[in-house]
Amino acid sequence: MIHNKKQSFFESFFSLLAPVTCVACGNNLLKHEKMFCTSCLYNLPRTNFHQTKENAVQQIFWGRVQIEEASSYFFFQKKSVFQNIIHQLKYHGNRDVGLIVGQLYAKELKEAHYFLDVDYVVPVPLHPKRLHERGYNQSEYFAKGLAEIFKLPSISDNLQRNIYTQTQTQKNKESRWENVKNAFTLKNTEQFANKHILLVDDVLTTGATLEACATAILLAENAKVSIATIALAQGI
Ligand SMILES: [Zn+2]
Repeated sequence: MIHNKKQSFFESFFSLLAPVTCVACGNNLLKHEKMFCTSCLYNLPRTNFHQTKENAVQQIFWGRVQIEEASSYFFFQKKSVFQNIIHQLKYHGNRDVGLIVGQLYAKELKEAHYFLDVDYVVPVPLHPKRLHERGYNQSEYFAKGLAEIFKLPSISDNLQRNIYTQTQTQKNKESRWENVKNAFTLKNTEQFANKHILLVDDVLTTGATLEACATAILLAENAKVSIATIALAQGI
C-alpha cells in the first residue's frame, strides 16, 4: 500500500516536470495551449461539412437510412500528424483527447448554428467485452465534449451493442455490414421517442456501424438521427 502511494506520488511529481506535448505533432506546448499546439489547431484538415449542403458524409447514407444532418470534424489522412489524435484516443488511453476534440468541434458547430435542434448526444457503443478490454469507450468521450458545449445530455446506456464483432479494419463494405447489421438495439425505445439523436463515433469509413445504430434508434417512434464523427477516412 505504502509503496504504491509513494510510486504514484513520484509519478505525479515527475509528470509535472515533464513537458506537455501536442497530441498531434509532439512539440512542447506553450502555457496557454491545451492538447494541441496553435499550429496544429490551425492546420487541422477540417472538412467544414457543416457549411456544405448535401455534403460527403450525408451522401454516404443516402438510400441506406434517413439521416437529418451529418458532418465530420476533419479528414483522416494516413501518415499525417493528425492521425495521432485518433491513435492517442483509441489505442493509448488518452481519453481527454476525445473530450477536448468534442468541445472544439461543438464550438465551431454551434457558431454555425448546426445540430441546433438535437435533444441527446449518443455515442456508438462498444460491446461490454470490448469495453472491458479497452477500459473505456473512446466515442463516449467525444460525445461528452460535444454535449458539454451544446448543454445537452449525453446518453450512453440506451443504445446497446449485443454482438461482439471482430475489428472491422480489414473488412470491405459488404462484410462490414453483414458484421454489424443486427448488432444494436435500444434498451428503452420510449426514451428516444420524439427525440432528435446526435449519434457520434470516432472515425467514419463505410458507415456500416453508424447505419446499424441509426436503424436501431429509428425504431423509436418519431425519432430523428443526425451524425457527427471526429474524422472521415479518405480513399476507402
Ligand atoms: Zn502540434
